[in-house]
Amino acid sequence: MGFETRVGYSDNVAVEDFLATESDPGAFSGVVLSAKHLKRHENVVETARARGVPIIVDTLTDRLAAPGFGSGTIDYGLDLPLDVDSLKRLNEQERRAFVRSILYPQFRVDADVLVGPHFYAEALDEIPFNVELARATVRESRAGRPVRAILAARRQLLSDPNTMMKVVSAYAGTGIEQIELRLSPLGGEDETAGKIGSTFSLLRAVKEHSDLEVILGHQGLIGESAFATGLVSAFSSGIGEQERYDHKGLIYRQTHPRRDEDGKSKGGRTRRVLLPGADAQVPKKIAEKLFTNPAIRGRLACGIDSCRDSIGAPAQDARKHLLHSRAGFVRDVQRRPVTMRATVERNRLAEALGVRRSVNKLLESDEEASPIGTRTLESLIGAIDPLIRS
Ligand SMILES: [Zn+2]
Repeated sequence: MGFETRVGYSDNVAVEDFLATESDPGAFSGVVLSAKHLKRHENVVETARARGVPIIVDTLTDRLAAPGFGSGTIDYGLDLPLDVDSLKRLNEQERRAFVRSILYPQFRVDADVLVGPHFYAEALDEIPFNVELARATVRESRAGRPVRAILAARRQLLSDPNTMMKVVSAYAGTGIEQIELRLSPLGGEDETAGKIGSTFSLLRAVKEHSDLEVILGHQGLIGESAFATGLVSAFSSGIGEQERYDHKGLIYRQTHPRRDEDGKSKGGRTRRVLLPGADAQVPKKIAEKLFTNPAIRGRLACGIDSCRDSIGAPAQDARKHLLHSRAGFVRDVQRRPVTMRATVERNRLAEALGVRRSVNKLLESDEEASPIGTRTLESLIGAIDPLIRS
Protein backbone atom coordinates (compact mmCIF):
# COMPACT_ATOMS: atom_id res chain seq x y z
CA MET A 1 0.00 0.00 0.00
CA GLY A 2 1.25 3.58 0.42
CA PHE A 3 -0.35 6.97 0.34
CA GLU A 4 -4.06 7.69 0.05
CA THR A 5 -4.93 11.12 -1.15
CA ARG A 6 -8.08 12.69 0.22
CA VAL A 7 -9.68 14.78 -2.48
CA GLY A 8 -10.97 18.12 -1.19
CA TYR A 9 -13.86 20.00 -2.81
CA SER A 10 -11.70 21.93 -5.29
CA ASP A 11 -8.85 19.43 -5.64
CA ASN A 12 -10.50 17.35 -8.35
CA VAL A 13 -8.79 18.87 -11.38
CA ALA A 14 -5.34 18.71 -9.75
CA VAL A 15 -5.85 15.07 -8.81
CA GLU A 16 -7.21 14.14 -12.24
CA ASP A 17 -4.28 15.82 -13.99
CA PHE A 18 -1.81 14.20 -11.68
CA LEU A 19 -3.23 10.69 -12.03
CA ALA A 20 -3.55 11.01 -15.77
CA THR A 21 0.09 11.99 -16.29
CA GLU A 22 1.93 10.26 -13.42
CA SER A 23 4.24 7.65 -14.88
CA ASP A 24 3.95 5.36 -11.86
CA PRO A 25 0.67 5.86 -9.98
CA GLY A 26 1.42 2.75 -7.90
CA ALA A 27 2.60 4.83 -4.92
CA PHE A 28 -1.03 5.87 -4.50
CA SER A 29 -2.87 3.11 -2.74
CA GLY A 30 -6.10 5.01 -2.88
CA VAL A 31 -8.02 8.07 -3.87
CA VAL A 32 -10.40 8.95 -1.06
CA LEU A 33 -13.52 10.77 -2.19
CA SER A 34 -15.94 12.47 0.09
CA ALA A 35 -19.48 11.06 -0.01
CA LYS A 36 -20.55 14.68 -0.17
CA HIS A 37 -18.83 15.45 -3.48
CA LEU A 38 -19.19 12.20 -5.41
CA LYS A 39 -21.11 13.78 -8.24
CA ARG A 40 -18.66 16.67 -8.60
CA HIS A 41 -15.72 14.26 -8.50
CA GLU A 42 -17.03 11.80 -11.10
CA ASN A 43 -14.06 12.44 -13.37
CA VAL A 44 -11.60 11.62 -10.61
CA VAL A 45 -13.31 8.24 -10.31
CA GLU A 46 -12.92 7.67 -14.02
CA THR A 47 -9.25 8.66 -14.13
CA ALA A 48 -8.32 6.72 -10.99
CA ARG A 49 -10.01 3.63 -12.41
CA ALA A 50 -8.16 3.99 -15.70
CA ARG A 51 -4.84 4.26 -13.87
CA GLY A 52 -5.55 1.37 -11.52
CA VAL A 53 -5.69 3.44 -8.34
CA PRO A 54 -8.26 2.09 -5.84
CA ILE A 55 -11.32 4.23 -5.17
CA ILE A 56 -12.43 4.66 -1.58
CA VAL A 57 -15.34 6.73 -0.31
CA ASP A 58 -15.31 8.49 3.04
CA THR A 59 -18.82 7.88 4.35
CA LEU A 60 -18.75 10.91 6.69
CA THR A 61 -21.27 9.30 9.02
CA ASP A 62 -19.41 10.65 12.07
CA ARG A 63 -19.89 14.18 10.77
CA LEU A 64 -23.54 13.53 9.96
CA ALA A 65 -24.24 12.71 13.59
CA ALA A 66 -23.95 16.42 14.33
CA PRO A 67 -26.02 19.23 12.80
CA GLY A 68 -24.67 21.71 10.30
CA PHE A 69 -23.07 19.38 7.80
CA GLY A 70 -24.51 20.45 4.45
CA SER A 71 -26.12 17.19 3.54
CA GLY A 72 -28.03 18.08 0.37
CA THR A 73 -25.66 16.20 -1.90
CA ILE A 74 -25.32 13.03 0.15
CA ASP A 75 -27.32 10.26 -1.31
CA TYR A 76 -28.17 8.15 1.74
CA GLY A 77 -31.92 8.69 1.83
CA LEU A 78 -31.78 8.96 5.62
CA ASP A 79 -33.05 11.54 8.09
CA LEU A 80 -30.24 13.83 9.14
CA PRO A 81 -28.52 14.47 11.43
CA LEU A 82 -28.13 10.81 12.28
CA ASP A 83 -29.27 9.95 15.78
CA VAL A 84 -26.70 7.51 17.13
CA ASP A 85 -28.81 6.50 20.13
CA SER A 86 -31.73 5.40 17.98
CA LEU A 87 -29.37 3.68 15.55
CA LYS A 88 -28.04 1.65 18.47
CA ARG A 89 -31.56 0.41 19.15
CA LEU A 90 -32.15 -0.93 15.62
CA ASN A 91 -32.71 -4.64 15.31
CA GLU A 92 -30.40 -6.76 13.17
CA GLN A 93 -32.46 -6.37 10.02
CA GLU A 94 -32.85 -2.60 10.42
CA ARG A 95 -29.16 -2.22 11.11
CA ARG A 96 -28.34 -4.01 7.90
CA ALA A 97 -30.73 -1.75 6.00
CA PHE A 98 -28.96 1.26 7.51
CA VAL A 99 -25.58 -0.10 6.39
CA ARG A 100 -26.96 -0.69 2.89
CA SER A 101 -27.99 2.97 2.67
CA ILE A 102 -24.42 3.99 3.48
CA LEU A 103 -22.94 1.52 0.99
CA TYR A 104 -25.29 2.41 -1.83
CA PRO A 105 -23.31 5.43 -3.18
CA GLN A 106 -20.15 3.32 -3.00
CA PHE A 107 -21.72 0.56 -5.09
CA ARG A 108 -22.74 3.21 -7.58
CA VAL A 109 -19.17 4.40 -8.12
CA ASP A 110 -17.97 0.81 -7.89
CA ALA A 111 -15.61 1.58 -4.99
CA ASP A 112 -12.70 -0.82 -4.66
CA VAL A 113 -12.78 -0.85 -0.87
CA LEU A 114 -16.10 -0.72 0.98
CA VAL A 115 -16.31 1.53 4.00
CA GLY A 116 -19.06 1.05 6.53
CA PRO A 117 -20.66 3.65 8.76
CA HIS A 118 -18.77 4.67 11.87
CA PHE A 119 -19.17 7.11 14.75
CA TYR A 120 -16.57 8.87 16.81
CA ALA A 121 -15.72 7.16 20.10
CA GLU A 122 -15.15 9.50 22.99
CA ALA A 123 -15.43 6.64 25.49
CA LEU A 124 -14.60 2.92 25.30
CA ASP A 125 -18.25 1.88 25.57
CA GLU A 126 -18.90 3.54 22.22
CA ILE A 127 -16.60 1.11 20.42
CA PRO A 128 -18.75 -2.08 20.51
CA PHE A 129 -21.50 -0.41 18.43
CA ASN A 130 -18.87 0.53 15.85
CA VAL A 131 -17.66 -3.07 15.82
CA GLU A 132 -21.24 -4.23 15.17
CA LEU A 133 -21.50 -1.78 12.27
CA ALA A 134 -18.27 -3.23 10.85
CA ARG A 135 -19.75 -6.73 11.12
CA ALA A 136 -22.93 -5.65 9.37
CA THR A 137 -20.87 -4.01 6.63
CA VAL A 138 -19.01 -7.25 5.97
CA ARG A 139 -22.38 -9.00 5.63
CA GLU A 140 -23.69 -6.43 3.18
CA SER A 141 -20.46 -6.18 1.18
CA ARG A 142 -19.91 -7.61 -2.25
CA ALA A 143 -17.71 -10.60 -2.80
CA GLY A 144 -14.13 -9.74 -3.57
CA ARG A 145 -14.33 -6.20 -2.23
CA PRO A 146 -12.29 -5.66 0.92
CA VAL A 147 -14.11 -3.96 3.77
CA ARG A 148 -12.57 -1.18 5.80
CA ALA A 149 -13.68 -0.11 9.23
CA ILE A 150 -12.86 3.35 10.44
CA LEU A 151 -11.97 3.62 14.10
CA ALA A 152 -12.05 7.29 15.00
CA ALA A 153 -11.47 7.77 18.68
CA ARG A 154 -9.99 9.93 21.37
CA ARG A 155 -6.32 9.00 21.26
CA GLN A 156 -5.95 8.49 25.02
CA LEU A 157 -8.72 5.86 24.96
CA LEU A 158 -6.47 3.54 23.01
CA SER A 159 -3.10 4.51 24.40
CA ASP A 160 -2.87 1.43 26.62
CA PRO A 161 -1.55 -1.33 24.31
CA ASN A 162 -3.66 -3.95 26.11
CA THR A 163 -6.84 -2.02 25.45
CA MET A 164 -5.81 -1.47 21.85
CA MET A 165 -5.12 -5.16 21.46
CA LYS A 166 -8.63 -6.07 22.65
CA VAL A 167 -10.25 -3.46 20.45
CA VAL A 168 -8.36 -4.56 17.37
CA SER A 169 -9.15 -8.25 18.03
CA ALA A 170 -12.84 -7.35 18.19
CA TYR A 171 -12.58 -5.58 14.82
CA ALA A 172 -10.55 -8.39 13.28
CA GLY A 173 -13.28 -10.84 14.36
CA THR A 174 -15.84 -9.11 12.16
CA GLY A 175 -14.14 -10.23 8.93
CA ILE A 176 -12.90 -6.80 7.80
CA GLU A 177 -9.60 -6.63 5.94
CA GLN A 178 -8.60 -3.04 6.69
CA ILE A 179 -8.84 -0.66 9.60
CA GLU A 180 -8.31 3.05 9.34
CA LEU A 181 -7.26 4.66 12.60
CA ARG A 182 -8.11 8.28 13.20
CA LEU A 183 -6.69 9.33 16.52
CA SER A 184 -7.91 12.57 17.93
CA PRO A 185 -6.44 15.01 18.48
CA LEU A 186 -3.19 14.18 16.74
CA GLY A 187 -0.94 15.82 14.19
CA GLY A 188 0.52 19.17 13.38
CA GLU A 189 3.93 20.48 14.31
CA ASP A 190 3.70 20.64 18.08
CA GLU A 191 3.38 17.05 19.28
CA THR A 192 5.38 16.02 22.33
CA ALA A 193 7.70 13.03 22.58
CA GLY A 194 5.23 11.39 24.99
CA LYS A 195 2.32 11.65 22.58
CA ILE A 196 4.29 10.40 19.58
CA GLY A 197 5.87 7.60 21.62
CA SER A 198 2.46 6.48 22.85
CA THR A 199 1.01 6.63 19.33
CA PHE A 200 3.82 4.44 18.01
CA SER A 201 3.27 1.89 20.84
CA LEU A 202 -0.42 1.80 20.02
CA LEU A 203 0.31 1.19 16.33
CA ARG A 204 2.79 -1.52 17.24
CA ALA A 205 0.11 -3.28 19.33
CA VAL A 206 -2.23 -3.29 16.32
CA LYS A 207 0.46 -4.58 14.01
CA GLU A 208 1.55 -7.35 16.36
CA HIS A 209 -1.93 -8.62 17.18
CA SER A 210 -3.76 -8.64 13.87
CA ASP A 211 -3.28 -9.27 10.20
CA LEU A 212 -5.35 -6.22 9.28
CA GLU A 213 -4.02 -3.66 6.88
CA VAL A 214 -3.73 -0.54 9.01
CA ILE A 215 -4.18 2.91 7.54
CA LEU A 216 -3.30 5.95 9.60
CA GLY A 217 -5.95 8.45 8.56
CA HIS A 218 -5.57 12.22 8.32
CA GLN A 219 -1.86 12.25 9.12
CA GLY A 220 0.78 13.84 6.92
CA LEU A 221 4.12 14.02 8.72
CA ILE A 222 3.33 11.40 11.37
CA GLY A 223 1.78 9.22 8.67
CA GLU A 224 5.00 9.33 6.65
CA SER A 225 7.12 8.16 9.58
CA ALA A 226 4.64 5.49 10.66
CA PHE A 227 4.63 4.19 7.09
CA ALA A 228 8.40 4.39 6.63
CA THR A 229 8.99 2.42 9.83
CA GLY A 230 6.48 -0.25 8.82
CA LEU A 231 4.01 0.44 11.62
CA VAL A 232 1.19 1.01 9.15
CA SER A 233 0.46 -0.15 5.60
CA ALA A 234 -0.67 3.27 4.42
CA PHE A 235 -1.45 6.79 5.52
CA SER A 236 -3.79 9.43 4.21
CA SER A 237 -3.99 13.17 4.04
CA GLY A 238 -5.58 15.84 1.96
CA ILE A 239 -3.64 18.07 -0.38
CA GLY A 240 -2.25 20.57 2.07
CA GLU A 241 -5.12 19.92 4.44
CA GLN A 242 -6.42 17.09 6.60
CA GLU A 243 -2.83 16.51 7.64
CA ARG A 244 -3.92 16.22 11.26
CA TYR A 245 -7.03 14.91 12.95
CA ASP A 246 -9.14 16.68 15.51
CA HIS A 247 -12.68 15.38 15.59
CA LYS A 248 -13.97 17.88 18.14
CA GLY A 249 -12.49 20.75 16.13
CA LEU A 250 -14.20 19.49 12.96
CA ILE A 251 -17.55 19.24 14.68
CA TYR A 252 -17.11 22.64 16.30
CA ARG A 253 -16.39 24.25 12.93
CA GLN A 254 -19.34 22.55 11.28
CA THR A 255 -21.73 23.66 14.01
CA HIS A 256 -20.23 27.17 14.29
CA PRO A 257 -19.48 28.22 10.70
CA ARG A 258 -17.51 31.42 10.38
CA ARG A 259 -19.59 34.24 8.93
CA ASP A 260 -18.58 37.57 7.54
CA GLU A 261 -20.47 40.77 8.30
CA ASP A 262 -23.14 39.99 5.70
CA GLY A 263 -23.81 36.61 7.27
CA LYS A 264 -22.24 34.69 4.40
CA SER A 265 -20.02 31.80 5.34
CA LYS A 266 -16.38 32.66 5.07
CA GLY A 267 -14.52 30.37 2.80
CA GLY A 268 -11.16 28.86 2.51
CA ARG A 269 -7.77 29.07 3.95
CA THR A 270 -4.63 30.35 2.33
CA ARG A 271 -2.86 27.87 0.14
CA ARG A 272 0.26 26.46 1.71
CA VAL A 273 3.30 25.13 -0.04
CA LEU A 274 5.28 22.08 0.98
CA LEU A 275 8.92 23.11 1.41
CA PRO A 276 11.09 20.35 -0.04
CA GLY A 277 13.86 19.29 2.30
CA ALA A 278 12.07 20.74 5.33
CA ASP A 279 8.92 18.62 4.86
CA ALA A 280 6.96 21.57 6.25
CA GLN A 281 4.10 23.55 4.80
CA VAL A 282 4.31 27.32 4.81
CA PRO A 283 2.13 30.07 3.31
CA LYS A 284 2.76 30.61 -0.38
CA LYS A 285 4.12 34.11 0.20
CA ILE A 286 6.78 32.84 2.58
CA ALA A 287 7.67 29.95 0.28
CA GLU A 288 8.23 32.37 -2.59
CA LYS A 289 10.59 34.47 -0.46
CA LEU A 290 12.58 31.41 0.55
CA PHE A 291 12.80 30.08 -3.01
CA THR A 292 14.51 33.30 -4.09
CA ASN A 293 16.81 33.58 -1.08
CA PRO A 294 20.33 32.48 -2.11
CA ALA A 295 21.18 31.59 1.51
CA ILE A 296 18.69 28.69 1.56
CA ARG A 297 17.21 28.00 -1.87
CA GLY A 298 19.82 25.37 -2.70
CA ARG A 299 18.49 23.22 0.17
CA LEU A 300 14.87 23.59 -0.97
CA ALA A 301 15.02 21.97 -4.40
CA CYS A 302 12.30 19.45 -5.26
CA GLY A 303 13.65 18.00 -8.50
CA ILE A 304 10.61 15.83 -9.34
CA ASP A 305 8.88 16.17 -12.73
CA SER A 306 7.84 19.76 -13.42
CA CYS A 307 9.79 21.00 -10.38
CA ARG A 308 13.07 19.95 -12.01
CA ASP A 309 13.40 23.12 -14.04
CA SER A 310 12.93 25.71 -11.35
CA ILE A 311 13.37 25.94 -7.59
CA GLY A 312 10.28 28.13 -7.36
CA ALA A 313 7.98 25.65 -9.13
CA PRO A 314 6.43 24.19 -5.94
CA ALA A 315 4.86 27.58 -5.15
CA GLN A 316 3.36 27.80 -8.64
CA ASP A 317 1.56 24.49 -8.46
CA ALA A 318 1.40 23.57 -4.80
CA ARG A 319 -1.07 20.70 -5.25
CA LYS A 320 0.86 18.95 -7.95
CA HIS A 321 4.08 19.41 -6.01
CA LEU A 322 2.54 17.91 -2.88
CA LEU A 323 1.17 14.94 -4.80
CA HIS A 324 4.42 14.08 -6.53
CA SER A 325 6.37 14.64 -3.29
CA ARG A 326 4.21 12.13 -1.42
CA ALA A 327 4.41 9.66 -4.31
CA GLY A 328 8.19 10.11 -4.40
CA PHE A 329 8.42 9.57 -0.64
CA VAL A 330 6.43 6.32 -0.84
CA ARG A 331 8.53 5.05 -3.75
CA ASP A 332 11.74 5.83 -1.87
CA VAL A 333 10.53 3.84 1.13
CA GLN A 334 9.36 0.91 -0.98
CA ARG A 335 12.63 0.74 -2.88
CA ARG A 336 14.70 0.24 0.26
CA PRO A 337 15.23 -3.04 2.11
CA VAL A 338 12.87 -3.23 5.09
CA THR A 339 15.78 -3.41 7.54
CA MET A 340 17.12 -0.04 6.42
CA ARG A 341 13.91 1.93 6.37
CA ALA A 342 13.89 3.19 9.96
CA THR A 343 17.47 4.46 9.70
CA VAL A 344 16.81 6.22 6.42
CA GLU A 345 13.65 7.81 7.82
CA ARG A 346 15.49 8.98 10.91
CA ASN A 347 18.18 10.58 8.75
CA ARG A 348 15.58 12.20 6.51
CA LEU A 349 13.87 13.75 9.54
CA ALA A 350 17.20 14.93 11.01
CA GLU A 351 18.03 16.57 7.69
CA ALA A 352 14.58 18.21 7.58
CA LEU A 353 15.08 19.47 11.12
CA GLY A 354 18.36 21.10 10.05
CA VAL A 355 16.68 22.77 7.08
CA ARG A 356 13.82 24.01 9.28
CA ARG A 357 16.25 25.53 11.76
CA SER A 358 18.14 27.32 8.99
CA VAL A 359 14.85 28.59 7.52
CA ASN A 360 13.71 29.82 10.94
CA LYS A 361 16.97 31.75 11.39
CA LEU A 362 16.40 33.48 8.09
CA LEU A 363 12.77 34.25 8.95
CA GLU A 364 13.62 35.68 12.38
CA SER A 365 13.62 39.24 11.11
CA ASP A 366 10.60 38.74 8.83
CA GLU A 367 7.51 40.16 10.49
CA GLU A 368 5.15 38.33 8.14
CA ALA A 369 6.54 34.92 8.98
CA SER A 370 6.12 32.72 11.98
CA PRO A 371 8.75 30.06 12.68
CA ILE A 372 8.17 26.51 11.44
CA GLY A 373 7.45 24.18 14.34
CA THR A 374 10.01 21.50 15.10
CA ARG A 375 8.58 19.65 18.10
CA THR A 376 6.75 16.89 16.19
CA LEU A 377 9.83 16.26 14.05
CA GLU A 378 12.05 16.02 17.12
CA SER A 379 9.52 13.70 18.79
CA LEU A 380 9.41 11.47 15.71
CA ILE A 381 13.20 11.20 15.68
CA GLY A 382 13.07 10.23 19.37
CA ALA A 383 10.42 7.58 18.66
CA ILE A 384 12.33 6.07 15.73
CA ASP A 385 15.71 5.86 17.53
CA PRO A 386 14.77 2.79 19.63
CA LEU A 387 13.46 1.05 16.49
CA ILE A 388 16.92 1.37 14.98
CA ARG A 389 18.72 0.10 18.08
CA SER A 390 16.48 -2.94 18.50
ZN1 LIG B 1 7.86 19.30 -6.66
